[in-house]
Amino acid sequence: NDNILLEFTITRFGGGEWLVVVRDVTRLHNLEQMRKDFVANVSHELKTPLTVLKGYLETLIDTLPPEQTRMHRALQQMDQQSHRMDALIQDLLLLARLEGTEPDNNYHKIMLAPLLRRLQQDALSLHPEKAQQIVLEVAPDATLLGDHNEIQSAFSNLITNAVKYTPQAGRIDIRWWEDDLGGHFSVLDNGVGIDRQHLPRLTERFYRPDHSRVTHTGGTGLGLSIVKHVLIRHNARLNIESTLGKGSCFTCHFPRWRVGDEERKDVGG
Ligand code: ADP
Repeated sequence: NDNILLEFTITRFGGGEWLVVVRDVTRLHNLEQMRKDFVANVSHELKTPLTVLKGYLETLIDTLPPEQTRMHRALQQMDQQSHRMDALIQDLLLLARLEGTEPDNNYHKIMLAPLLRRLQQDALSLHPEKAQQIVLEVAPDATLLGDHNEIQSAFSNLITNAVKYTPQAGRIDIRWWEDDLGGHFSVLDNGVGIDRQHLPRLTERFYRPDHSRVTHTGGTGLGLSIVKHVLIRHNARLNIESTLGKGSCFTCHFPRWRVGDEERKDVGG
């Protein structure tokens, strides 16, 4: 459309003088929109051929004589990689939706205890061989106003990361608590931790502190970007604390009006 987007930078100097710089960022904004549309379209177009490939692979695996072990192994590899690609496409589409649409204002009351119990169970079955201790602390009647699927994606990503980046026999604490400021969700682990220098960039898409670990953990590299965008849509803030070799704590802070039985006062947050 014909809207013009202007960016103002205001600087105040010691002598009481002000400098106002006005920049026309319309073109930049349009290019950014084109990039987002392109990624969403490509992801969508990749879905169909991938579904066909996965279908044929499954048939091949099922019908191959069992003695063809080398072929079986190759097909299993292809199957595994096609599932990774599928996860990547799903995450790209979710991210495109989170970035490209207005948040739905018909917020629902999410019952947090059953949701978190389910995510705790999922986490326990993710790597049973690691024998991790996964502890949950949430009041039985805790609620949050928001989009159920989006909150589930965000919380699930944080919990899954804690499981992935915490070795054998580690401990993970999932907590929800409320105070005067609002509601807080945290996932604490005593896993590998993250070097300080990487923390500011951690929620960028595909940003990873250690590339060698990527194939090992099988993530899409989009998890924390998804968390970031879900939180923006819920007027919430993400805080990351981590020490290399000791562990990490990811905390989401939600404003008071989204929590508990209080009436919604200010929809804008
Ligand atoms: P992915 O896990 O798929 O690589 P994410 O966006 O979820 O992508 O996370 C980005 C990076 O942040 C990870 O690759 C990992 O290096 C780091 N990270 C996330 N959560 C944790 C955690 N709990 N402990 C240590 N490192 C983490």
